[in-house]
Parts: sequence; structure tokens; C-alpha cells
Amino acid sequence: MTTFARDRYRAVIVGAGIVGLFTAYRLARAGAGPILVVDRGFLSSGGSGRNGGGVRQQWETRATVRLARESVRDYRQFGREFGVNIWFRQGGYLFLAESPAELARLGTLRDLLREEGLNVRLLGPDGVAALVPGIAPEAAVGGSYLDSDGTLYPFPAVWGLYEAVRSLGVEVALGVDAIGPTVRDAAVVGVATSAGSVATDALVNAAGGWSGDFSRRAGLDVPNVATRHEILATEPMKPFLDPMVVRARDGLYFSQTMRGELVGGLTVPHAPGTARGVPSSARFLTTMARALVELVPRLRGLGVLRAWSGYYDDTPDGFPVIGTDPRLPGFVHANGFGGHGFMLAPAASRRVAAAVLGEPIDLDPAESSPGRFVVGAARRPTERLQLG
Ligand SMILES: Cc1cc2nc3c(=O)[nH]c(=O)nc-3n(C[C@H](O)[C@H](O)[C@H](O)COP(=O)(O)OP(=O)(O)OC[C@H]3O[C@@H](n4cnc5c(N)ncnc54)[C@H](O)[C@@H]3O)c2cc1C
Repeated sequence: MTTFARDRYRAVIVGAGIVGLFTAYRLARAGAGPILVVDRGFLSSGGSGRNGGGVRQQWETRATVRLARESVRDYRQFGREFGVNIWFRQGGYLFLAESPAELARLGTLRDLLREEGLNVRLLGPDGVAALVPGIAPEAAVGGSYLDSDGTLYPFPAVWGLYEAVRSLGVEVALGVDAIGPTVRDAAVVGVATSAGSVATDALVNAAGGWSGDFSRRAGLDVPNVATRHEILATEPMKPFLDPMVVRARDGLYFSQTMRGELVGGLTVPHAPGTARGVPSSARFLTTMARALVELVPRLRGLGVLRAWSGYYDDTPDGFPVIGTDPRLPGFVHANGFGGHGFMLAPAASRRVAAAVLGEPIDLDPAESSPGRFVVGAARRPTERLQLG
């Protein structure tokens, strides 16, 4: 049975996914030990081992664009920093518009991104066809393309971080369930786990799709909703596709890995909430196959090698939840990343670490803080580009 090396930690992080491990890394680098990370599953058992590896900076709000842009810079130097190749390939992201109205929406995005220094381009049908050879001629009236977006392999990123944090003295306990916080005088003073209780000043909820469950175990009413999303990988094809392609209407997305497989997904509705196991559905397979072949007819007959699913951790306004909960000092949120936590984790984790250390966070509270859901606001900003 797992036992912990200490009975008191500076911070305990629940969840050894990309967010929890990046946060542990930032804290350890800041000299804020000792740090404990607990995860009831195995490494990469959550969303961090189930995603499409997409990393994009094309977003509708400055807040998300800036986090994503900083994260791209971090992923570009991941190999140098951690000595692990995550195969980050900046082949771009192409959003497809099927109507002039969708293209106009992407045009608004372009203006914002250009102001942020990102050289996004609006393309017509010919530009789209040049980037997606074989696309059906009527499939898009145009698109929005940013060549510095890209894709990476999630597993080496998680493994690299795991090795890095352990070499910095962080204790990572896998197979350990965090049951809930120990609270004294209305503040967190520790955490109870399936391997015993420990004392801590800060309990970080980086539990991905299960973060809402964990917050509720702490007695906190949070709006996070876990939603199941499915994804598949095909047999390999000769490389033909550089960008990640996303259809603006429904979020159909696919990219080609360096092994030649197409990896992609499409949202089919599932009952909200977590369940035992995360199965795949025949409905997803048929809907996705039809959509792909409709878009790129020459993919007809391509075999699907595997399909799997995982949870998004959705918030009502599409922004993550970062920072200390005003109702429970010591309880720090690092969750609500929807279907985009991998691409935001490097930058978001800096702010989570700052919250743990009691330092100010350079994010607008209306777009990040847990308190935004507690205090009613007349009009809230929203990040609506929750696609692909
Ligand atoms: C199909 C799919 C495709 C996606 N595609 C992309 C993409 O292209 N780009 C992108 O950026 N993002 C994508 N995402 C989202 C991304 O995977 C997640 O946002 C990200 O991995 C979340 O990381 P995390 O560390 O917060 O959570 P996770 O990786 O889910 O880790 C949370 C961990 O917490 C553990 N845990 C939960 N509760 C407890 C508890 N009580 N005690 C102990 N441990 C607990 C779990 O076992 C889990 O390992 C996708 C997600 C899915 C499902």
C-alpha cells in the first residue's frame, strides 16, 4: 500500500495530468517544496492521455489567445527544457467556413489575432484546397489559417513532466484517491486520501473531468460539467496534410500525425457527468466517418484503427477556473479547461502556482477566477470558440 514520505506538504495537487504536473513543476522550480501529487489512476489515464494533441492560438478572446500564445512558446522549448521530444509540429490550424457568415466571424477573429501579433490569414476556396488536398470543392467558402498553431504527441509531454518533477523532489503517488479536504476554521488544512491523511496549506484541484466532483466533495457549488467526447485514429496514409483542420459549424476536426494516421473527432451528444469507464459508440464512428468522407471524398475506404473517448471539463463561459476559491481558503482551482487543457496548461500552470504561493495573478478575474460564478455579474465575457 502507498504511504507518503511526509505528513505535511506545502501543496498537494489532485490529478497527475498535464495541468497537475505542470503546476508541480512550476512550484518545484520556484523552490516551494515539498509538493505531493496524487492520482487515483495511472499516468495519462485522464484527458491528458486521450486528446488530439492540438495546440492553437486562434481564439475569440484576448485572454485565451494570450494563454495559448505563451503555451506555444513553452511547447517550442519543451525539448530543451525537459530533454524529451514531444514532436511539436507547427503545421498550422485551418478553420473551415461553409458560409459567408461563418467567414465573417472568422474575419473578426483575424482582427483580434493580428492585434495580438499573430499573423492569421483568411483564405478563399483555393487557399483551402491548397492546404487540404482532395477536399470536396463545395466543402468550404474559405477559412482562417495560422501557421504557428500545431499538434504534438501528448504522452511524451506527460512522461517528460513526470520525470522532471520527480527529479526535482516532487512526490507523485499514483493509484491514490483524494477523498476530500480536511477543513479547520473554514480553511483547508489537509487532505484525506485512500492512502491516509496529510496536512497541507494548499490543495490544488487539477482533477480534469472529475474536478467538479472533487469540488463538490469539498462542499463547493461549482458549475463545471464533465462531457464525454470521442476521437479516433485511422490506419496510416502517405503524408498529405499539414494543418489541423476544424470545421467551424460543428467542430469536426482532424490532423495527420507524423506516422500518417488521421486523428480526429466530432461531438455526438452524451449524457453529462462522469460514469464508470469511457466507452466509444457506433454512433460516433458512423457520424465521424460520414463527415470525413463528405469533406474529403478520397478518404472513403480508409480503415479506423482505434477509437476512444474522454471527458471535457466544461464551464458555462468557456474560460478555465484558476485561483483560490473565495469560499474556502487553501482550495485552489486548476480546472475547467473544456477540450483545450493541453494547449493552455503550460501558461495556466504559472498562474495556478502563483495562486498557491499567494502571489497576484495577471488574469482578469471575470475570465479566470472561481469567484466569477459566486458573485452574480450583469454581463459576463465568454469564450465561444470551443471547437476542435
Ligand atoms: C477526445 C478529446 C480530445 C481532446 N483534444 C484536445 C486537443 O486537441 N488539445 C487540447 O489542448 N486539449 C484537448 N482535449 C482536452 C485535454 O485533454 C484536457 O483539457 C487536459 O488533458 C486536461 O488535463 P488535466 O491535467 O486537467 O486533467 P486530466 O488529464 O484528466 O487529469 C486529471 C487526473 O485527475 C485524476 N483524478 C480525478 N479525481 C481524482 C481524485 N478524487 N483523486 C485522485 N485523482 C483524481 C484522474 O485520474 C486524472 O488522471 C481533449 C480531450 C478529449 C477527451
